Amino acid sequence: MDFSYTETQTMVRDTLARFLADRYDHETRMKIARGDGWSPDIWRAFAEDLGILAAPFSEAHGGLGGGAVETMIVMEELGKALVLEPYLSTVVIGGGFARETGRDDLIEGIISGTTTTAFAWAEPKGRFDPANVTTGAKRSGGGWTLSGHKAVVRDAPFASHLIVTARTGGGPRERSGISLFLVENGAKGIVRRDYPTADGGRASEVYFEAADVPGEALLGEADAAFPLVSRIIDEATTALCAEAVGVLRELHRQTQDYAQQRKQFGQPISKFQVLQHRMVDMFMEAEQAASMTLMATLKLPDPAAVSMAKAKIGKGLTLSGQEAIQIHGGMGMTDELAIGHYFKRATMIESQFGNTDWHLGRYEALAFGEAA
Ligand SMILES: Cc1cc2nc3c(=O)[nH]c(=O)nc-3n(C[C@H](O)[C@H](O)[C@H](O)COP(=O)(O)OP(=O)(O)OC[C@H]3O[C@@H](n4cnc5c(N)ncnc54)[C@H](O)[C@@H]3O)c2cc1C
Repeated sequence: MDFSYTETQTMVRDTLARFLADRYDHETRMKIARGDGWSPDIWRAFAEDLGILAAPFSEAHGGLGGGAVETMIVMEELGKALVLEPYLSTVVIGGGFARETGRDDLIEGIISGTTTTAFAWAEPKGRFDPANVTTGAKRSGGGWTLSGHKAVVRDAPFASHLIVTARTGGGPRERSGISLFLVENGAKGIVRRDYPTADGGRASEVYFEAADVPGEALLGEADAAFPLVSRIIDEATTALCAEAVGVLRELHRQTQDYAQQRKQFGQPISKFQVLQHRMVDMFMEAEQAASMTLMATLKLPDPAAVSMAKAKIGKGLTLSGQEAIQIHGGMGMTDELAIGHYFKRATMIESQFGNTDWHLGRYEALAFGEAA
């Protein structure tokens, strides 16, 4: 099988890599992380100079005509540079929902860089289960009234819109009775508590205090959103795996560079076989992650392939992150060096959209025919 990229795919990857090398070094990223948590200038450049916000959308929508493979290519590069901007939340998740529900206006806003979205799905004690929805939506007049609490909504502080799952029927953890709403961030009755995340990003606790939203806030059909939510989470998880590949490649590359420079007993520590073995293990984790991500991407929307990849990559992130810190010695612990920040992002990816144990359990249930 030929897995090589087309000329356009290679161009997108190389242009983005060059841009990030020029405009998104460690120091710049740390300034953004300590500031607002994202850079509108970088986002504008993604929209206008690079066109990557258009990458996975059809040409009819003004996109580049790409799909999941283009998302994979972009996400790997964003992972290599530890990009904080909300590509996953907006282009992959917001764009995915817009594509599947025929919301062309939303796609246009995303491509132009004017609309950013955050996905409010998880709830306290939800344990990664997207059907664990207690936030409620009741019909009122021509619209809806939302009440409830969504936890750790990534990128919410700088999203123009929130995409919210809410229960319009059924009981706790039931898959039927879940609906999706696209609401303006900061509308009356929506209260946010914003905070920085361990990896330099931003998230919010979002409280819906009898928030009235108009009828057109409903995305897709009432009561029947679960299959779509599950599918978009799988697409997002696959994109996250691609970001993890970028992180794993950098954990390995930067550790190898350090070991070649750091001298002990009159020679670079990379000469010691015991460290070479450990760096080979890191290299293998990155390569296996790349293969698993490609498989999950090409098999979308196969949930078993997604969970298999996420479980394998989750283990790789833990191993490689720990090895990188230890091989860097005391330097690995410092805030000034990038490596610790890669480890932090690796740790967050491991638990984003289901941790290793959760995906192993889901894979087992899917592969052996139990309900998942
Ligand atoms: C939070 C923190 C607290 C600390 N507290 C103390 C303290 O109280 N007292 C103190 O003395 N030190 C302390 N240290 C320093 C710590 O002991 C050193 O960081 C550690 O010994 C590694 O040394 P190094 O940082 O110079 O790394 P390096 O010497 O550069 O080693 C890097 C990696 O190479 C490995 N390595 C080096 N040489 C070889 C070899 N010949 N064969 C195989 N592997 C090798 C090391 O195990 C390590 O994994 C602390 C460090 C941290 C991060």
